[in-house]
Amino acid sequence: MSQTIILATHNQNKLREVRQILSSLNIKVLGADDCHLPDIEETGTTFEENAKLKAIAGFKATGKPVIADDSGLCISAMNDMPGLYSARYATKHGGYPAVFDIINNEIGSNPDRSAHYTCVMAIAYSETEVYTFTGYLHGKIAKTASGTGGFGYDPIFIPEGYDTTLGHISADEKNKISHRGKALEQLYTFLKQKQ
Ligand code: IMP
Repeated sequence: MSQTIILATHNQNKLREVRQILSSLNIKVLGADDCHLPDIEETGTTFEENAKLKAIAGFKATGKPVIADDSGLCISAMNDMPGLYSARYATKHGGYPAVFDIINNEIGSNPDRSAHYTCVMAIAYSETEVYTFTGYLHGKIAKTASGTGGFGYDPIFIPEGYDTTLGHISADEKNKISHRGKALEQLYTFLKQKQ
């Protein structure tokens, strides 16, 4: 019999990606739209806290295992901001692409343009049995935005080993190297061992 796990997201791209990966383990993945999950305010002070609180709230609402994630872009020259506030930071500064100029102004002439994306995925089997998995994608901030692929900050993020932004990289290639892809790989291995 297949196991059912809920992914606490309304984002259909995330849902498709996780479904695809977990289908080989005979795990059925339902999204937030399929099971009326409450929208949870991200009140944590770390990615891990936010991912956990969303997964636990989902478990409380459904009684089923729930996966939730939290992610963001940490820029060294900005003391790792916007970090877990990435979505809010973009909104506050007029969205994308307006926020790209704000970031480049913040970095200014600092030669350190390094940055990384972080993603923490949590799975809650109860209010206390919660596991987390963390993935990173290291790189640097481009002086000029370019490319239309990806989303969010991708047009100004150049991954390590590339000379172009994520805006020019296909979704499949991004999934292989991304912070979310890396966290998901660990979750997959965990779920496989648990079977
Ligand atoms: P969430 O965890 O999916 O809500 O993402 C939080 C925010 O972090 C997004 O709204 C984006 O601003 C940023 N972010 C996270 N992952 C990515 C990515 O892969 N590309 C671009 N921006 C991202």
